[in-house]
Amino acid sequence: ARQFTRPLNDLANQWNTLLSAIAGAERVFEIMDEDVEEADEQGATEVKQLSGAVEFKDVSFAYDTERSGDTLQHISFSAAPGEMIALIGPTGAGKTTLIQLISRFYDADQGQITVDGKDIRTLRRSSLRQHMAFVLQDSFLFEGTVLDNIRYGRLDATDEQVREAAKLANADTFIRQLPDGYEQVLSRDGGGISQGQRQLLTIARAMLADPAILVLDEATSSIDTVTEIRIQEGLQRLMKGRTSFVIAHRLNTIRSADQILVLREGQIVERGNHDELLEQGGFYSELFHSQLQISS
Ligand code: ADP
Repeated sequence: ARQFTRPLNDLANQWNTLLSAIAGAERVFEIMDEDVEEADEQGATEVKQLSGAVEFKDVSFAYDTERSGDTLQHISFSAAPGEMIALIGPTGAGKTTLIQLISRFYDADQGQITVDGKDIRTLRRSSLRQHMAFVLQDSFLFEGTVLDNIRYGRLDATDEQVREAAKLANADTFIRQLPDGYEQVLSRDGGGISQGQRQLLTIARAMLADPAILVLDEATSSIDTVTEIRIQEGLQRLMKGRTSFVIAHRLNTIRSADQILVLREGQIVERGNHDELLEQGGFYSELFHSQLQISS
């Protein structure tokens, strides 16, 4: 399968303008979290435990209601706890918007989104987000030690717990090779560490947060092979037992998804797992076979 990975990635690159939008969203969360109390609906409740079932029931959404055509139209799907959902489709199809709705960065105009059967509008935003973690291509770091950057995932974690999360995320090896190890001070732009290492830190952060729901935006940039393998292993471990929404670029990821949702112009045009979609002989299958041709 390895030989198909690159061409699919290349096409995915053309398709997916990188989601700086979503990285931006993450930063806005930080700001929003500060006055999140105000934004919650009256009577919104805390979410204590979550198994991570997510359901969209006929969800439509438009950024600008004046404009014709909704960004997302009549989206329905149901993710069981622990399932991995791959979102694929051309740039502008609505993948980013869909995952922003789950985290209530925006609210649906029509339809309903539930988590463990509860309408997410009845939950406190901060509480909902405590059960979610984001592993984005450009997740932010702040000026501070590696320890503190990972601890951002769970502020009351001990150094020992941070190190444990880093080990599970496969980040420990590279961290220990830094001149100051876990005490190394990072700059905001991650100066001194590579893009891939930055991702490993984000995976460690998410591991520490131990969320029921994960949102991943798979890297499209080239990352050295050793780091890439570490990232893939770290992600596998992170996703295990959590409901994961992945904006996927890698064939291996897409192949192992429980459900692939193919989005186009705000609609789900195909759905199923890899084998089912190949059998349907539609858009996905066409894409897959065109990749075979390109790679041969
Ligand atoms: P994808 O992630 O599949 O590339 P997006 O969800 O980012 O797609 O975008 C879906 C559509 O919504 C596009 O037409 C895009 O231009 C538009 N869009 C995205 N973000 C915004 C925004 N903040 N305001 C207005 N329109 C937006």
